[in-house]
This record gives sequence, structure tokens and C-alpha cells, in this order.
Amino acid sequence: MKDNRIYLSLSQESGYEQEYIDRALKSNWITSGGPNVDEFEDELQNYFNNENFVAASNSGTSAIHLALILLGVKNGDEVICQSMTFAASANPILYQNAIPIFVDSEIDTWNICPKNLEIAIKDRIEKGKKPKAIIAVHLYGMPYRVDEIHSIADKYEIPIIEDSAEALGSSYKGKKCGSFGTFGVLSFNGNKIITTSSGGALITKSKEIKEKAIFYATQSKDSTIHYQHSEIGYNYRMSNICAGIGLGQMKILEKNISLRQDNHLFYQETFKEVKSVRLFDNLNNDFFSNYWLNTILLETKEEKEKLRLAFNEANIESRPLWKPMHLQPIFEKYPYYGSKVAEELFERGLCLPSGSNLTNTDKSRIKEVITNFCK
Ligand SMILES: *Cc1c(COP(=O)(O)O)cnc(C)c1O
Repeated sequence: MKDNRIYLSLSQESGYEQEYIDRALKSNWITSGGPNVDEFEDELQNYFNNENFVAASNSGTSAIHLALILLGVKNGDEVICQSMTFAASANPILYQNAIPIFVDSEIDTWNICPKNLEIAIKDRIEKGKKPKAIIAVHLYGMPYRVDEIHSIADKYEIPIIEDSAEALGSSYKGKKCGSFGTFGVLSFNGNKIITTSSGGALITKSKEIKEKAIFYATQSKDSTIHYQHSEIGYNYRMSNICAGIGLGQMKILEKNISLRQDNHLFYQETFKEVKSVRLFDNLNNDFFSNYWLNTILLETKEEKEKLRLAFNEANIESRPLWKPMHLQPIFEKYPYYGSKVAEELFERGLCLPSGSNLTNTDKSRIKEVITNFCK
């Protein structure tokens, strides 16, 4: 009999979710918004030391879209975006009929490169348009170079949308990822560090902006007795059932982060003697990755494919890194600043199983594949 498949990152329940779901069902709050949503937002705000305000949405993607709307991004505006990311970081730019301007990564954090970011900003300004926003991503949980990126953004007075979809629990110089930008974005999709089955959150700096986000997310209803709308509305609010799952999941957030640190230690140990593989690690003590996914860089594209097939043969999932946006058919016509760092990462990089539920047996199977591959 074949062994069970080991996946990259699966969610698992804490056991408390049902109670919150039942509460929603019994109180007839079976809709978008509601007491579980309010409480989930409070817990998230608490997690961010009550220094930020959180609006829960039905996905991370919609939270990014709301951030762009709140920043006034419109038809023809330009928005800078890290190229090395998941498409959900960039798609909302097109929802606003704005123009994405992609920027390469740098090799230490795999995230947006400060040098190329400044080159891009200067060149766009020279060409006549100052970018309206910068979308920077903490890829696989690894913080981007927060100090460098934010000092450039501040210099040109461009707001940052901090895509922390993969980085809940990560921090930079002791401060939590998601709290650096003008807006922060979280995702609670099924594969993320905690899940609401589907959901996201927008982290903002003021109560007024949070309320404006909820206004847009609930169809932009003016405060009249009848339904009246003076602005475009969206159906982006988190459901009360999903928020119930989120409340149950909050109870294991810290545990999940520590389990993922254990997974990282396992990979450190496994690859210790392997010179041809670079495990993606915190650059220094300023960086704390939640290690949502463990990722490696091999010497060649061929080696990467060989290892991927070996994993697959053993019924273990592994996956190439995100294919950069400037190489995607939907985005390739837009400007790109940089060289081939993101492209190299895509060609030679692999994501490894990193779920909070990896067992010792799973780890032995993973290790066996790696040991055989290295022979
Ligand atoms: C998952 C993810 C998103 C989108 O989140 P959804 O909740 O799936 O819409 C955005 N950006 C990145 C980098 C992601 O990994």
C-alpha cells in the first residue's frame, strides 16, 4: 500500500471551532458580519498590541483590493508590486484599472529589492507619474528589508501595502509583520498558518479607516433609512461562521508558529551537510520568519526538478517557488525593474512540506528522499 500523501501546508482544527460555529448558528447570525466577526477583529487587534485596527474580510485578496480603494488608486494610476509573489498580491491592481509596475527581489530575503525599488520610483516619476502605492510582500513568512524599504517609501511619500498573507507571526526587530505599512494584509485561506476556511483582514492605523473599509466591504450603504449608495460597494465582509473558525484557530496560532519553527530546525539538520542546497533562513537576528513554508534553492533547474520528482515518487508534495509576476502571461506587458533574481529563484527553488501537522513519520519519509537524492 502506498503511504499517505504529505502536503505542503494543511490546516488543522484546534477543537474550539465548533463551539463558535454553534454559537453563530444558534443565535441565527448566519450571515456576513456579526458577533464572531467583531470578536475575531478584537482578538487580532489584541494580537497586534492594540496599536492597530483590523477589519476582517472574506479573503486576503479582497483586503488588498480594499487597501487600494482606500488609497484612492484609480484608472491609469501606477502601483509598484514585488514581482516574486502569488498573483493575489497583484490582481487587485488590475481590478482598479491601474498599472502594475513590477520590481525584482534581492537574494537575502527573496523580497522586494531596495535598489531596484528606488530606481523604479525615480524612473516612473521621470516618466511623469509618481506611483500611488507600493505592495511589498513577506514571502513564505520572511520579512522584507523593512527599514530600507520603508525609508525609500517615506522619502518619496508613497504608502506601503504590506502583504503579510503568509507572515502572521513573523516579526522584524521585534515588531510584528502586518503593522509596518499604511495598510497590512492577512490571509486565513486554508493553507495559511491559521485558517477561517476562507478569509482575510486589513490592518489599518485608525478606527475611521477601519470603518471606511467595512463600509466599502458591505456595499457602501449611506446612512439613510432606505438603501442609498453614493460610492461603489463590495461584498467583501467576513462571514460570521468563518470568523467562528478564526476564533477557534487563534487558540493555536502560537502553537502553530512554534511547530513551524520545529519543522525549520528539522530541515536545518537535514541539509546541514548538503553543500549544494541552500535552506532559506533568517538573514540575521532582526528577522524572525514564521517559516510558513520552508524553501530551498538548488544549484540548477535540473536538480530542482529531479528532487521534486523524487518527492512525488514518495507521495510527498513539493512545489516550485512562485513564478514571478513579470513572467506571467497576464502581467508580462507591464514595466519591470530588475534583473534575474526572481527568475533564478523560480527556476532553482522548491517549497517543502511545512504544515503544523507534520509527524515524525512524515519527517523520516522526507529525510529519506533527501538522503537518497544527495547520494
Ligand atoms: C494567500 C495569499 C494572498 C491572498 O489571500 P487569499 O485569502 O487567498 O485571498 C495574497 N498574497 C499572498 C502573498 C498570499 O500568499
